[in-house]
Amino acid sequence: MNYLKFFEPHVKGLKKAGAQFKGYCPFHNDEGSEKKGFSLNAEKGLWHCFSCGAEGNVFSFFKQLNSPIPEELQSNSPPEWRGYNYPKYRSPKKEVKREWEPETLLPPNEKWQEKASYLIKLTIAILTRSPKCEEIRHSLMTERGLNGEALNRLGWNPQTIYYSKDSWGLEDSGDLWIPRGIVIPVIQDRCIQRLQIRTHDEGDHILLPGSCSKAPMRLVSGNRCAIVVESDLDALLLWRVAGDLVDVFALRSASNRPDVNSTEILRKAEKVYVSLDSDSAGRENSQWWLSHFPNAKNFPLPPGKGKDPGEAFKKGFNLRGWIREEVYGNTRPNKETSDVSAINASSVGMKYSEEEKRNNL
Ligand SMILES: [Zn+2]
Repeated sequence: MNYLKFFEPHVKGLKKAGAQFKGYCPFHNDEGSEKKGFSLNAEKGLWHCFSCGAEGNVFSFFKQLNSPIPEELQSNSPPEWRGYNYPKYRSPKKEVKREWEPETLLPPNEKWQEKASYLIKLTIAILTRSPKCEEIRHSLMTERGLNGEALNRLGWNPQTIYYSKDSWGLEDSGDLWIPRGIVIPVIQDRCIQRLQIRTHDEGDHILLPGSCSKAPMRLVSGNRCAIVVESDLDALLLWRVAGDLVDVFALRSASNRPDVNSTEILRKAEKVYVSLDSDSAGRENSQWWLSHFPNAKNFPLPPGKGKDPGEAFKKGFNLRGWIREEVYGNTRPNKETSDVSAINASSVGMKYSEEEKRNNL
């Protein structure tokens, strides 16, 4: 039973304070004073004034007030409480947050993977080889900062395609729409986990139905630190400029949590830099990381550098320098040129992991 309502009319300023309630004690005059002396454990109906020492249960409260005991209380409380025989006041235990457990993600069905694999290979070949795609490659390099292997992971779907969902092993009827745009695959744990299309005209990210929506993109090469961002393209960008400094994780959405395999890697990292988008969802979810990963550190972009790494890149911000300084501080001599964000052929040498090579995608 919650006894709050019986106290509320008699205790001024009664408000939740942590797990208990605090207000101005009606038995000594502390109204308006800096500290509220009256504490209430609303679940047990027990109260104590830390200023004057008065205390009791809900019955003795009315007795001491010289007030009639409300009818509802008479029938609903343990009979042994009706006297002064009450347990000593203790503030209720702080609400224990339910322990978070990382999820084991189920990859899309086999038929889906087969179809997706074909689509990925085809669209990667188109983006890499077709002379018509030169302009798209160029804009991915200059606007998103992608080249080398980071660019080679992406595909280009030149025209809208409709498949029957059934042919992709999906249960619901209707068409599977694959819009024209950049194809962004996430391949992990020997499976194609998800596929996103960044539409050419609007720049929307369409998650292909049947995808494992919570699968993060992991770009891991055994660095001692890791960085967590939201979008896949941002992850690829950071991997290109700083893949030798940090392992990179893309959550796809600020509210997604790492799966069991990602959690294992992140727990072992010396530091997990949390760099979610500079918006309310990003800020809110950064808190989750800080309270669930002792090695997490909030690592937003400096003010004025845009809401995500992609924007910062466009503004000419030195993303590599920003990460390197954080990872190494001043402990390593600065031999690098300052403008590593400029596109050139010498992108950091990054390799597909062995696992991804076996997948041959
Ligand atoms: Zn008091």
